[in-house]
Amino acid sequence: MIQSLLIANRGEIACRIIRTARRLGIRTVAVYSDADANSLHVRQADEAVHIGPSPARQSYLIGERIIAAARATGAEAIHPGYGFLSENAAFAQAVIDAGLIWVGPNPSSITAMGLKDAAKKLMADAGVPVTPGYLGEDQSADRLQAEADAIGYPVLIKAVAGGGGKGMRRVDAAADFADALLSCQREAASSFGNDQVLIEKYILSPRHIEVQVFGDSHGQVVHLFERDCSLQRRHQKVIEEAPAPGMDEATRQAICAAAVRAAQAVDYVGAGTVEFIADASAKESGGLRADRIWFMEMNTRLQVEHPVTEEITGVDLVEWQLRVASGEPLPKKQGELSINGHAIEARLYAEDPVRGFLPSPGRIDRLSFDHHARVETAVEEGDTVSSFYDPMIAKVICHGADRDAARLGLLRWLDSSFVGPLRTNKPFLHACLAMPDFAEGRLDTGMIERQGEALTAIDGPSDRVLAAAGQHFRREWQGKGLFGFRLNAAPKTSVDLFVDGRPVVAEAKSSELRTGLCSDMERDGTIIVTEAGQSWFFSQTPPVKAGGAAASDGAILSPMPGRIIAVAVAKGDRVAKGQKLVTLEAMKMEHSLVAPFDGVVAELDASEGGQVSEGTLLVLVEREEG
Ligand code: ADP
Repeated sequence: MIQSLLIANRGEIACRIIRTARRLGIRTVAVYSDADANSLHVRQADEAVHIGPSPARQSYLIGERIIAAARATGAEAIHPGYGFLSENAAFAQAVIDAGLIWVGPNPSSITAMGLKDAAKKLMADAGVPVTPGYLGEDQSADRLQAEADAIGYPVLIKAVAGGGGKGMRRVDAAADFADALLSCQREAASSFGNDQVLIEKYILSPRHIEVQVFGDSHGQVVHLFERDCSLQRRHQKVIEEAPAPGMDEATRQAICAAAVRAAQAVDYVGAGTVEFIADASAKESGGLRADRIWFMEMNTRLQVEHPVTEEITGVDLVEWQLRVASGEPLPKKQGELSINGHAIEARLYAEDPVRGFLPSPGRIDRLSFDHHARVETAVEEGDTVSSFYDPMIAKVICHGADRDAARLGLLRWLDSSFVGPLRTNKPFLHACLAMPDFAEGRLDTGMIERQGEALTAIDGPSDRVLAAAGQHFRREWQGKGLFGFRLNAAPKTSVDLFVDGRPVVAEAKSSELRTGLCSDMERDGTIIVTEAGQSWFFSQTPPVKAGGAAASDGAILSPMPGRIIAVAVAKGDRVAKGQKLVTLEAMKMEHSLVAPFDGVVAELDASEGGQVSEGTLLVLVEREEG
């Protein structure tokens, strides 16, 4: 067994890997950038090595620095986690060439799955069903058009080198094909340096189903059943679960067997995931049918959502990775693996659903996580969610005897945990889990988009929330003999409070909502009331700090350092809720800053091309009175 391990990653996955390594008695080495000098993964590891400045390109993505760190600390093996260098075949090879153990598949397996057309051909040859389509060498416009006509519309044009949802075009009619092809080829050439495309049948009512596979260096491959990751927003997973709702035993056996064949075809070693797309339009048996599920791609690493598989199988997948990398055989045979109950995972992000899911990094002043669920996180109260990396705060995983028990457990967690003052997607996750279609297991990848604003709308604290907050303070003041005493007048029942920095008047009434205390209660007397996943912070005095959530009502602050690429409004303009104000380019992505409510642009401090730092006031929107 490996004695020492370097983890070439950060955040929750680094902490997750350290936990298992420690249990197995393995010494751990963390690596960190400037921004992560005080991060939890650094605090938890036995040793830590600084590898460069905060941007990942200058630290976590520099393979030589990571290998040098392993050499300097005498680490025997490198675990890449997910993201960063985890699917970089050249890095995997460099690790092996340096005489270190790579906790992952052979570099040749990573390469074989790298290009979509090559991977699909390989899978078709191995007898794995692939999405119907054209993978040919002939890339002439006439031939591609003829193939699309033969497949039948709608079709999807995909760049063979594409990834991250880029380089894809849906075409609904033959007349639109030529234009879509040109634009897809242009994007593919500029983004991936390769303008080759393939054409696929566009699957209607698609469900994303993936199978966890595991191989060892002795030629054994098993599967650990499927996960359903259909609840997506812009092709990004939001909620994941295992097993897939509505999956019957015959269909399960068919796709799990196909996944094992896929892994065997590339001599797979370690943890991998074979992703399938299912046409869930059939009404019978939850919509899933073995002859309507097709291979999409293989991810040659541990997935973000691996904990749901761990919860239903009782297997620690990181332990298996470390054992297999040490040369041990798989700890269990296929027949020894079974599904126990149901598990659902929700990804809690520092992002603001009300403002188009804009990242909302910042310091976590208040955090309390309910312990009745598995929480994978790398932050504690007082830590900062950095603007340099993915703004995930935690993954929350609930296991139950059946799907509804897991779902209700997660809903309860969202109502009994809080994190602030940064904005989070907690109320959005609550709304997703509460959707009747989701509750009944009717899923497809388009359902979040179809709901529009219904999943993100938040009007303000409800009467129930205000009553609970008012009642709390009234009791407290009555205890001190301060409340409601007025000469010659009826006792007062309303309480003047601040919620998220704004003044409100709360009628003190009994309410079934519970009030929670912030951990620094003694300092400023803040209390918290949560309803439908949305946590409201109430205080008697306005928060001292400017900026952040306190001033953010109509104040549009730059959420991270970046460059203004468009200003869509002028001072004095009347704007509608959701209207685009300013577009910021940061972390290689465009972020639209939108009006939080109907109002008037009272201040504008943004010009096209300007560089802005985090927290700069760009626009102030004021509500129109009356
Ligand atoms: P990428 O590598 O860019 O992530 P994928 O091939 O994995 O691209 O597809 C990403 C997502 O696009 C899938 O999760 C699914 O929601 C959708 N998708 C992919 N192929 C099809 C298809 N043939 N029909 C309908 N939707 C598809």
